[in-house]
Amino acid sequence: MASSAQLLDGKQLAQTLQTQLAERIQTLQTQHAGIRPPGLAVLMVGDNPASAAYVRGKERACAKVGIASFGQHFPGTTSQAELEATIEALNQDDRVDGILVQLPLPDHLDAVRLLHLIDPDKDVDGLHALNLGRLVRGEPSLRSCTPAGVMRLLAAYDIPVAGKSAVVIGRSILVGKPLALMLLQENATVTIAHSRTPDLAAVARRADILIVAAGRPGLVDASMVKPGAVVIDVGINRVTDTTGVSRLVGDVDFDGVAPIAQYLTPVPGGVGPMTIALLLENTVQSYCQRHALPWG
Ligand code: NAD
Repeated sequence: MASSAQLLDGKQLAQTLQTQLAERIQTLQTQHAGIRPPGLAVLMVGDNPASAAYVRGKERACAKVGIASFGQHFPGTTSQAELEATIEALNQDDRVDGILVQLPLPDHLDAVRLLHLIDPDKDVDGLHALNLGRLVRGEPSLRSCTPAGVMRLLAAYDIPVAGKSAVVIGRSILVGKPLALMLLQENATVTIAHSRTPDLAAVARRADILIVAAGRPGLVDASMVKPGAVVIDVGINRVTDTTGVSRLVGDVDFDGVAPIAQYLTPVPGGVGPMTIALLLENTVQSYCQRHALPWG
């Protein structure tokens, strides 16, 4: 396969971050005898196989670094009231530093209402209006894990952001919007493109940094990428080929874009592992704040 782009190895970087977190947790527990470990509660409703795999991945990563899991798995018929009561209890639970509701939820549930019930100081997914508002204001806050993971990946490879033209394809509250704000905070000139953007290719070609979070396999091909651009593929899509074999792909035509981009993320192994690493980091950050321990 012809490939000139340097791969941004999110898997490797996430492993490094997790090792650092594990060491940090161990040091804190040695220095502060009897202190409890950090705790994370992931709430899952129903049996969406993709969500179940993500939740298992998060719990395994927690165990590896020394974060206690308080996850709960509810049947798909669980009521709004029961989930609200669970979140209220976790807000009061001193062993828990982070609460995450695995999305999407079944249609009968009001996800936004649940997210807004989470104590903003335990909102490790950064989706509470208070944390999003702080992001808009450029104030410190718990930051959405996927966009924060993208920013960390750019920083780890010393990719300059200030003054660059950044195009984000996708405007979801989970990825596109917070990512655009984070890039803006780092002084990029930011364009947000979406499903109603005319001539997406022309907009994308202006990007020094092109970030794709649309959930559309193959949306971005080589004709949409400026030579030498940094291309970050957030998309995770399961596709099945004509022989019935299924695999995960991003939103970018990897083989077509690799020869012309300067940097490119693989899928899997790019942004996905960074999301988990940043979730763990947010949990430890919240833990340190709760115990008045230094962070950062
Ligand atoms: P979403 O469906 O909420 O939002 C998709 C966005 O893409 C929308 O704003 C829409 O306007 C835009 N879009 C859709 N089709 C388009 C098109 N043809 N042209 C231009 N814009 C288009 O999705 P999301 O939650 O933001 O997730 C996006 C993708 O990222 C999905 O594949 C998801 O699985 C993946 N994702 C990955 C991670 C990770 O850890 N790597 C985390 C979250 C989401």
